[in-house]
Amino acid sequence: MPLYETVVGLEIHVELATASKVFCGCSTAFGGGQNTRACPVCMGLPGALPALNRQAVEYAVRAGLALNCSITKNAVFDRKHYFYPDLPKAFQISQLYLPLCVDGWVEVSGKRIRIREIHMEEDAGKLSHDPWTDVSLVDFNRCGAPLIEIVTQPDIRSAEEAVEAVRKIRAALSMLGVSDCKMQEGSLRVDVNLSVRPMGSDELGTRAEMKNINSLRSIGRAVTAETARQIEQIELGKPIIQQTRRWDDSKGASSAMRSKEDALDYRYFPEPDLAPLSLSDEWIAERRAALPELPEQKRKRYPVEFGLSAYDTDILVSEKALCELFERTAALCGRPKDAANWIMGEVLAALKDRGEPPDQLRLPPEALARIITLQSDGVVNRNGARRALTAVMSGEAEDVDGYVTANQLAMVGDESALAGIVRQVMESDADSVAAYRAGKEKAFGRLMGQAMKALRGKGDPGRLKELLTEALGEG
Ligand SMILES: [Zn+2]
Repeated sequence: MPLYETVVGLEIHVELATASKVFCGCSTAFGGGQNTRACPVCMGLPGALPALNRQAVEYAVRAGLALNCSITKNAVFDRKHYFYPDLPKAFQISQLYLPLCVDGWVEVSGKRIRIREIHMEEDAGKLSHDPWTDVSLVDFNRCGAPLIEIVTQPDIRSAEEAVEAVRKIRAALSMLGVSDCKMQEGSLRVDVNLSVRPMGSDELGTRAEMKNINSLRSIGRAVTAETARQIEQIELGKPIIQQTRRWDDSKGASSAMRSKEDALDYRYFPEPDLAPLSLSDEWIAERRAALPELPEQKRKRYPVEFGLSAYDTDILVSEKALCELFERTAALCGRPKDAANWIMGEVLAALKDRGEPPDQLRLPPEALARIITLQSDGVVNRNGARRALTAVMSGEAEDVDGYVTANQLAMVGDESALAGIVRQVMESDADSVAAYRAGKEKAFGRLMGQAMKALRGKGDPGRLKELLTEALGEG
């Protein structure tokens, strides 16, 4: 039995997919020239007043409902003060006292990880440091972008559970369409709060926080490495210091950044320029009724309705693009098992080869359904089907049937064509025919090989064998 237990709580920052920022009309599009998407409001110029983005509230509420939270009808915004060059107002509009969503949960390996709250806030700008000139530049394009922060209770006990919790939350949010959840672009960033304690203890140890981790793999590695570091400190009789640490994925280690502030240090107070929200029960009920089918529901439905394994189901429902492709393809071709097998096999392998994430998938369900139908009808063989898929995914072909015709991928199913080839091979290799008829069975393989070659692998080998046997017996 291990001597120590890891205790982890997560803070997940998610950029909402609204067209404009949370308190002004500036665009939230990724990229763009520096400081081209900034105005007096998001740059915090004196006298500029915030106006709340209704869509951002709706997205945050949808996230809360999907994660089993209660919605605070009269949620309030607060100012969180700190000075940093990427925060021009010197305060961030956030929510401390009455966050929008509270008391939710997400299920991880059969256990509920409680979600303490989901609050709304605005993002900060971005600093770039130039080590050569020792100059720092600031870009306000991201300043004021709408965020939600999902805060879990310290219910997570391992690296696996931490990764699984983020994966589940990400799948739900991406299914809702409230965020693109692209970790590589920073749309979903995770802070890991971690402490260790003697096994069996109920008390929480002193925690360290690792900020802005942006891949699932890094989250798992950070939890494992920080657990080991804290245990080592304790064994050496050294105290754990409450601090914020920077996780360096290339080194596989974290280093101290600053001592961690408590809420008191931020001098929170209610934002006087924004009225408290006033959400009606009806409005919330309508939002709840309009939620799409969530990954958890699909997880239960797929094995029952389509006979898929838990493993396949899990992979499909973790990515919005994959389960949409699966459901539409299955409906179009009526072969859910084949659709799942193609996606789990060829499609994921092709994405991996191309180094693309599933959300960049360019494969219309119509095309995949057609490929599956052509193969199951025996029009193309596995190899031909695979070639057509690669051509569609690379943008080389748009129309599956056109590609199959242009590249002569169709199987030769026509009896007279097969018989013609048998005749042709027997005429061109009379020696083998004679040898076979003289009892040399090996010669059959030679003739069969030539016939398959003439068909370029596109004939049904079983039928071909029958025809050849028949023709040789006639002599
Ligand atoms: Zn603005």
